[in-house]
Amino acid sequence: MTTSHWIRQKYGKSPDISTDVLIVGGGYVGLSTAYWLTELRPDLKITVLDRSLCGAGASGRNAGFLTKGSASFYKSLTQKWGEEKAIDLYRFAENSLELAHQHILKKTADINYVPSSSLTLFQSEQQYVSWQTEGFDPRKFNFHWNDNLRIPTPLKNKFFGAFENSPEYKINPIELLSSIKNILETREVTFIESSMAFEIKASGVQTETTTIKAKQVVMALNGYFPQFNAVFKEAFIPRRAQMLAVEIEEGFDCPALHYDPPERVYWRKAQNNVLLIGGKRLLDEAGEKGDFEKISPLIQAGLENYISDQLGLKYKVINRWSGIMGFTEHELPLVGKIAAPVETFIIGGFSGHGMGLGFASAKDVAELVTGIRKESFFSNFKKAEFSL
Ligand SMILES: Cc1cc2nc3c(=O)[nH]c(=O)nc-3n(C[C@H](O)[C@H](O)[C@H](O)COP(=O)(O)OP(=O)(O)OC[C@H]3O[C@@H](n4cnc5c(N)ncnc54)[C@H](O)[C@@H]3O)c2cc1C
Repeated sequence: MTTSHWIRQKYGKSPDISTDVLIVGGGYVGLSTAYWLTELRPDLKITVLDRSLCGAGASGRNAGFLTKGSASFYKSLTQKWGEEKAIDLYRFAENSLELAHQHILKKTADINYVPSSSLTLFQSEQQYVSWQTEGFDPRKFNFHWNDNLRIPTPLKNKFFGAFENSPEYKINPIELLSSIKNILETREVTFIESSMAFEIKASGVQTETTTIKAKQVVMALNGYFPQFNAVFKEAFIPRRAQMLAVEIEEGFDCPALHYDPPERVYWRKAQNNVLLIGGKRLLDEAGEKGDFEKISPLIQAGLENYISDQLGLKYKVINRWSGIMGFTEHELPLVGKIAAPVETFIIGGFSGHGMGLGFASAKDVAELVTGIRKESFFSNFKKAEFSL
């Protein structure tokens, strides 16, 4: 992107800004990075820049699962990386939720969070038996089997059983982000919203109207990395995720966070009679690549069919929306220092797991920025190697 002569003449008069660390991207990960930087180095001047509002990306559009992920996620990690590394990642996720609980959820009165558990559901015995595999023991990841007698009553005639994991949390993601932002404002972090970064030069980070001089830059752009620079095109694939909110009848008493991995569906109750459901991406995998937030009749129909056919519920649609996730090839984030005219770090590519992994990952990148650690935890999986 460039700035025209005319725009610069009219709007480009704001004085240039200086900061110690500029965080580009005000989602959960960017704000959490600012949080950890203020914890580790209260003396630094921190600025957060977002092209829209903080939380306008995936962080303000998800289902509000503060979760470690499904049993199927850990099964595929074990198959790909071996048990030891998969358990390391599980512990990382566990720690991430614990840190978010201690540092944010418990500390702020303005967030209504609900301690909960997640259920990885199986529709039939056959599905459960064929899912099991040698070399993966769900118990090592704190997943406990609930047979049909032990799942919530409304699910008994619809599912064979489920793996349960706790503690996890139900949150309103916008409340979570606002709480972090409020904390950061008391710590004198500067926010610049509705201003897009489009280049990093030796003189600073270029926006449409200004140059932000920063000693260090952290980019937390999630699915929007390739928009920023084509060097990220192969590594971060933007994928749309669609959601639906429906009003349902009273009495569907299912308090957990639910995954149905073969259907690629996740759902939870929000308020008393509101159900949130997302997923069904595989109904149109090619169509769901891209960074434009829209909904499609095919996926929305898939979500509606699941509510009526699988959950057996009558419903009234109250909202439909989508968000953009940044996927990497190995479905884990890339975190690290990259080559750039100003010392620059990237953090992104959470592949649908950013609310779970985000808070500890932000601590990880803050420790890289402040020199406390030399390598990110995620370098054990894949290193972030880019040059701007
Ligand atoms: C529908 C849906 C359901 C999901 N469900 C779950 C779930 O159950 N559990 C889970 O753990 N995760 C889930 N996720 C994923 C999770 O929401 C993301 O992994 C997480 O929000 C990523 O946070 P982030 O801060 O990296 O990205 P984002 O929230 O996308 O933040 C990126 C920010 O960068 C800004 N930006 C982009 N380009 C620029 C630029 N050039 N200059 C300035 N600012 C810029 C954007 O405006 C945005 O605010 C879901 C996502 C979606 C969309």
